[in-house]
Amino acid sequence: MAVPQNKISKSRRNNRRSHDSLVAANPNECANCGELKRPHHICAACGHYDDREVIAMVDEIDLDEDDAA
Ligand SMILES: [Zn+2]
Repeated sequence: MAVPQNKISKSRRNNRRSHDSLVAANPNECANCGELKRPHHICAACGHYDDREVIAMVDEIDLDEDDAA
């Protein structure tokens, strides 16, 4: 079994862990609907990106099975 040859000092261990903290999300407002969205991602609420509709949202598609028959 591999064993560390030298003890990692508290200073070296803590220096390594200084980069481990998580950073908070930084949401932007959607230009189309005003919902908060992730930067450089399509808006999850309206499907727009860069003032364009990229994805048709589910509520705009008729999925009612009674009408399909
Ligand atoms: Zn939106």
